[in-house]
Amino acid sequence: MSHDSEYDRLINNKWRQAGLLYSDQQPDDKTAISGCKKLYRKAFGKAFKGKWVIVNRKNQYTWWKGYTNRSVIVVNPSREDDWGRKGWPDMVHLISHMAHAQLRPTERPHSVAQLELEKDLTNYALSDAFAKYRN
Ligand SMILES: [Zn+2]
Repeated sequence: MSHDSEYDRLINNKWRQAGLLYSDQQPDDKTAISGCKKLYRKAFGKAFKGKWVIVNRKNQYTWWKGYTNRSVIVVNPSREDDWGRKGWPDMVHLISHMAHAQLRPTERPHSVAQLELEKDLTNYALSDAFAKYRN
């Protein structure tokens, strides 16, 4: 199976079933940061010690603020990605890439391990435990 069909099966279909794949629904700023903290902890296995900041600029995506200075994470709950996904599908995707980049720096971005991680984070973001951040 190609990566793309696995990606649709394991990730996009889950968001689609929840009605969130191309939804305009997005969390407010405070909820976005709280939810991203949970996702970060899940992805990295520990909490982020630095600062969390909201950005709403169109092209800035959820990531460390500086590539070498990883003490600040910017969160953009209103960004739309290249596939038209906003809100949690976009933030979950990016947090999975952050963790993958930090934990497995020698692996390419869309390896099997990254797909697995994004799948796990997607399932978590759609679980009852995360419901209060989705609404
Ligand atoms: Zn990706």
